[in-house]
Amino acid sequence: MTQTATRQEHEPVLEPLDETVDPIPGSPAGCLILHYGDYECPYLGQAFRAIERVEQEMGGGARFAFRHFPLTGVHPHALAAAAGAVAVRPRVRDLASGRIASPSEGVSMASSLSIDVFNSGYKPIPGGLGWDDSSPATWPASTSTLISGDRDALLVDALLTTSEGERLAAWVQDTGKRPRAIFVTHGHGDHFFGAGPVLDAFPDAQLVACDQQVVDEARGQTAPEVMAIWNSWFAGQFSQSPAVPALTSSREFDLDGHPLLFRTIGAADGALATIVHVPEREAICSGDIVYNNIHMWLWNSTPDSRQAWLASLDAVAALKPSTIITGHKDPDAPDDNATRVLDQSRRYIEDFDRAVAKSSTPREVIDVMLAKYPAYGNRYTLFAAAFTQFPS
Ligand SMILES: [Zn+2]
Repeated sequence: MTQTATRQEHEPVLEPLDETVDPIPGSPAGCLILHYGDYECPYLGQAFRAIERVEQEMGGGARFAFRHFPLTGVHPHALAAAAGAVAVRPRVRDLASGRIASPSEGVSMASSLSIDVFNSGYKPIPGGLGWDDSSPATWPASTSTLISGDRDALLVDALLTTSEGERLAAWVQDTGKRPRAIFVTHGHGDHFFGAGPVLDAFPDAQLVACDQQVVDEARGQTAPEVMAIWNSWFAGQFSQSPAVPALTSSREFDLDGHPLLFRTIGAADGALATIVHVPEREAICSGDIVYNNIHMWLWNSTPDSRQAWLASLDAVAALKPSTIITGHKDPDAPDDNATRVLDQSRRYIEDFDRAVAKSSTPREVIDVMLAKYPAYGNRYTLFAAAFTQFPS
């Protein structure tokens, strides 16, 4: 095939750029990089990083524009992502055809998107049923993730105690970014009771969830009988009237031009699990669906609930992330590699399931799991889970 033939093959489907209707930042004299892509493409993040390197090497002599090209045949969510990203633009045309967007539909990407993680570390709690007292019992280390554009940000989850919330607020303030919302992944108190100090520091930020069931489960955590359970662990350390998330109006969040997607996944550790998907970075904030080097909250789980949790892991894996920020993460975990944390979470649930089936006492389950996972953080979680499997 000659060069000419190759060029002809591609040229007719690309409409020329018209800067009168689609202004691109930067000097018109600079080299323009026009990128056609779709947000569900697993290679899009790599392409953006390559383009960033080119822009840096050209020292400001390059301009960049992004044009939606949703490959709906292979990427079932690409069209929705593209439609969400251009929804605010007045001249959106027939995206449903899957054809290349016209110049008026082009979206210029903001220059940067960063993901930063705050880890609470472990907090001492009373040991309770079955704890062996060989060391102080602790609550699992938890994360709060700040996804930032050039100016604005989205904070994912907001920890538990007031002092954690204060440290989190100071950490966010240090970044200089302005959180427009705090997204709550699921309705367990250890992921939003700490939001108060952050909301005080950023009064314009909204505390939100993307599914009515998460809102309802979060509200359920503030019922007196549930607050009594939280108080048995953390009396005097957290707000007795915590803010409860409100339902978002949209599942797509435009962060300075970068689309973030809120998705309901399914069951996990006892509450409906939702996630934040950052397609441009192939990243997911998984809440408590996935764990990183830390014992998993299988308290009161059943064979059926464990199967449902495995299905949720599969649903996250199907999004093909490279990075997963897990809701609970050992502070010394080596990285946020998606394949590793998905594999280890799947294996952990299957091992626990088998250990329970083969054992007749909690101690047997604990011994099997500690032998398989000697370096995992927060043994208390395993003790609590094992004791609920053998009610006396
Ligand atoms: Zn949790």
